Amino acid sequence: MRLRNVKGSREAIAANDYVINEPEKNKGSWKQAFGNDNPIMIEIGMGKGKFLMELAKNNPDINYIGIEKYSSVLVRALEKLEEDPRDNMLLIRMEAENINDVFDTDEVDRIYLNFSDPWPKDRHAKRRLTSREFLARYDQFLKKDGYIQFKTDNNDLFDFSLEEAKEAGWNLTELTRDLHNSEYIEGNVMTEYEEKFSSMGNPINRVVISRI
Ligand code: SAH
Repeated sequence: MRLRNVKGSREAIAANDYVINEPEKNKGSWKQAFGNDNPIMIEIGMGKGKFLMELAKNNPDINYIGIEKYSSVLVRALEKLEEDPRDNMLLIRMEAENINDVFDTDEVDRIYLNFSDPWPKDRHAKRRLTSREFLARYDQFLKKDGYIQFKTDNNDLFDFSLEEAKEAGWNLTELTRDLHNSEYIEGNVMTEYEEKFSSMGNPINRVVISRI
């Protein structure tokens, strides 16, 4: 199916094999959806999908699921997949607050959060993807030895995230406030926002959040 023949992004998404339209139906059976036993890693707030596409290309033995709430953004990831097909990648258009409807216990090996929306107002703190509310959701489906990898140029969001993780009893490792000048740069895959903000001179924060 060629996307250029399809007008609206919603329609394009509804008609595409890469997009799982009723992801709740796959809860507990994502391995079957990919047709193998490979680990499953997800990015929440994938945007146009550059980061995850690159991981999927570099790691054919890992399955990737990109989650994005806006069709207009997700359709860009779809276009990339159409040009460069991958059998280890699927996409979901959803609001991440409902993520526990979609993944079951131990179903996910790793969660990537890249340049998540900062929601600067205090009263919106629980919408931040690294809030204690979201960590409690991840706790239900992330494997015990799995982890969250978080990158952002937003210092306030980063500080908030470290506090929330500590408060919720998670451990912080591989922490840097300047990823591009740190030992963790090796193997780093840049996201779209990372390219944009680091080219403006913003240092990139990065941390691994785990329970072990
Ligand atoms: N990860 C990409 C995009 C960052 S912008 C990059 O680093 O380049 C943040 C993206 O997350 C936006 O596309 C936004 O629509 C999406 N997003 C934010 N909150 C979300 C939520 N609660 N559920 C799903 N997607 C979300």
